[in-house]
Amino acid sequence: MEFDVECSKCFKWLYIPTEERYEKIREHLLECPLYCEDAREWRPSISCNDIPDITRKEKKYGHLISLVFLSLIQDGNEL
Ligand SMILES: [Zn+2]
Repeated sequence: MEFDVECSKCFKWLYIPTEERYEKIREHLLECPLYCEDAREWRPSISCNDIPDITRKEKKYGHLISLVFLSLIQDGNEL
């Protein structure tokens, strides 16, 4: 299973190495947005200026969460 969180600045999908970390990020995403710089712990070269790696994501959706999705859910909208 793969875990990804969307960067709150450039909207690139960021790979999250463990489920524990993913759950923690998801829990606090609205208060603490995730940025590419936060993923440098396991992907040292990543930045918001990188070109998004979209092709990988189009094929397979595992666990994905984004600030946009969360905001919609909070507002009570159906996705
Ligand atoms: Zn970014």
